[in-house]
Amino acid sequence: MKAAMNKDGFVIDIDYGRCGNCGACVAVCPEGVLHLGTLILVADNNKCTGCKRCAIICPADALKLMDMTGSVLTVESVDAKDL
Ligand code: SF4
Ligand code: SF4
Repeated sequence: MKAAMNKDGFVIDIDYGRCGNCGACVAVCPEGVLHLGTLILVADNNKCTGCKRCAIICPADALKLMDMTGSVLTVESVDAKDL
């Protein structure tokens, strides 16, 4: 599911077919963007700064960050020590 682009030009794409609602991404998000709903993960896209911590930590490869061109942002640029 794609949310609307936020002011910083990032959009979170949640693949609900993969997400197991484990909450790992919720725990590492420094901006309080992600929350576990009753059955699904929900995101307040307007707060996202595009740090990619959630995409790195997800064990199911269910989260992707995209820039304003629609390109998927890779996670290699984020150092694991920052998580
Ligand atoms: S870490 Fe991945 S599998 Fe777990 S709740 Fe987040 S998106 Fe879903
Ligand atoms: S990219 Fe960073 S700020 Fe945006 S939802 Fe993921 S962890 Fe939160």
